[in-house]
Amino acid sequence: MSIGVAVLGSTGSIGTTTLKVLSRHPGRFHVAALTAFGQKDVLEAQAAAYRPGFVGLVSQAANGWATGSDCLVEAVSRPDVAVVVNGVVGAAGLEATLAALYAGKRVALANKESLVMAGELVQRAASAGGGQIIPVDSEHSAIYQCLAGEHERTYSRIILTASGGPFHRWDAARVSLATVNDALNHPTWRMGRKISVDSATLANKALEVIEAHFLFGVGYDQVSAVVHPQSIIHSFVEFVDGSVLAQLGFPNMELPILYALTYPERLADDGVTRFDPVAAGPLTFEPVREDVFPAFALGVRAGKAGGTAPAAYNAANEVAVAAFLERRIPFGRIAGVIEEVLTAQTVVPADSFEGVRFADDWARAHAARVLGA
Ligand code: MG
Repeated sequence: MSIGVAVLGSTGSIGTTTLKVLSRHPGRFHVAALTAFGQKDVLEAQAAAYRPGFVGLVSQAANGWATGSDCLVEAVSRPDVAVVVNGVVGAAGLEATLAALYAGKRVALANKESLVMAGELVQRAASAGGGQIIPVDSEHSAIYQCLAGEHERTYSRIILTASGGPFHRWDAARVSLATVNDALNHPTWRMGRKISVDSATLANKALEVIEAHFLFGVGYDQVSAVVHPQSIIHSFVEFVDGSVLAQLGFPNMELPILYALTYPERLADDGVTRFDPVAAGPLTFEPVREDVFPAFALGVRAGKAGGTAPAAYNAANEVAVAAFLERRIPFGRIAGVIEEVLTAQTVVPADSFEGVRFADDWARAHAARVLGA
């Protein structure tokens, strides 16, 4: 029987890539629901091509479609939806993740912010509702793949690889003055604007450290990041006996998306570029330059602080990145805004949706004050 898939954020990078993967496997999957924030024309074309039973557009009115932010939860709650691909950008993806997990569905999670903001709530929703999170983030998919077939919890350490972003060879002074175009010019991955900037500040890697903490139940002393500019090795896992496994391939989100859809099975797919070690060339590794990319260390610190600190980190980052993309602040100010918000925050346990929402709202408002808006 064909599996109904809801694609949230269908017009974004993850969404369009997901639709491409799904259209190669028409017997196995069908598109049951689509939601997008904007880009009505693109959504219209997708709706015409895939004919889902439900279409939601968050930001504008549309005839015959659901509208407003509630349409995400509406989409995942439909009985014909078994798998949710959450490709929403930022905090806006949290409620849909929770609703899908409470409803016992599989969430192919690209919206790492869900776990960063509310890791405990997400885990609680999964165990209460019987839902399942399969990571789509390439690093976490790599770890997930390395852990498949391990019967017991025998891993001891996770090493996330980071491309280093477009500035990994730049000095601190040059990085602080980087332009929007510089930041969006990622060397190895083609992604949406927000995550491209996160990748340039290395905030993305800090979000991924927190994501790994919640997904794999490891302490922060068991997760680290290493710069690997070629983006061929997607992460490493070390086991208690000292053995290290890695998953590799040319950078392409189609594979982690397909794996999250088919796990624990693998499905033959000719659409993914086959690996060639010679073409991949030499693989190199360098430490993260925390002095040049302070947003990384700030994020790890927020993770270690726990409670609502990661939610505030995430919210402050979203506000600062939006201001940078609107050319209101220089690149080098992003981490400063985050730091001021974290310093002013009173951290409390992140054990209720309201508490997380409050921390998110407060951090956004405080970041706006810091920006002088
Ligand atoms: Mg990633």
